[in-house]
Amino acid sequence: MFTEDELIPISALQHAMYCERQVALIHIEQLWRENLYTAEGRILHERVDKEHHESRRARRAEYGMAVRSLEHGLIGKADLVEFEKSGTGKYAMIRPVEFKRGKTKPADVDNVQLCAQALCLEEMFGTGIPEGQFYYLQEHRRSTVAFDQELRDRTQTVIRLVQQLFLSTETPQAEYRKQKCDRCSLYELCMPRATSGGGKRVSRYVANQLRLGLKEEET
Ligand code: SF4
Repeated sequence: MFTEDELIPISALQHAMYCERQVALIHIEQLWRENLYTAEGRILHERVDKEHHESRRARRAEYGMAVRSLEHGLIGKADLVEFEKSGTGKYAMIRPVEFKRGKTKPADVDNVQLCAQALCLEEMFGTGIPEGQFYYLQEHRRSTVAFDQELRDRTQTVIRLVQQLFLSTETPQAEYRKQKCDRCSLYELCMPRATSGGGKRVSRYVANQLRLGLKEEET
């Protein structure tokens, strides 16, 4: 079991699947962001407790619901969670739903995020959750994702990867990959062309920048 201080944000799974360096830059190196997450985490904890004891109606929908798992070490927020109770008062159905703006099918990273929410909800409500859904806002259409063993295993692998990154507190070296880096919001901060490959590349980059600067001054 993890303690509340050891929980990792579910959003970090998405960043880690994109790039391990990205998750470290956002969640480990950025102290101001860490402070933000600390505050966010406290609010989420309060909301989890509050929401956990809410409503006894047969059907209900909770928007922006805080979720948490001490077993898996996760904390986050689900866009929507739908609940349905049976006649005996037990939960007949709990389903996390994520809203998608685009029209495309969810990527693997989306499925992992949704599955991580389900892991939290299973622990919070003590019941199995076989599936979740994506709701496409433009098309008013839903698609269902089964939380099968393969997706659960993949989700666990990503969770462990992020936990190791958080524990090591070391930022992986940059590795320039055009497809990813050119679309990355942290490109300027990361400088993958300059820093990939270690110190030699950094010094070469700095030397090149200096040379360019000198040339500009000469002209
Ligand atoms: S710029 Fe590239 S290496 Fe750097 S964080 Fe983004 S994806 Fe990762």
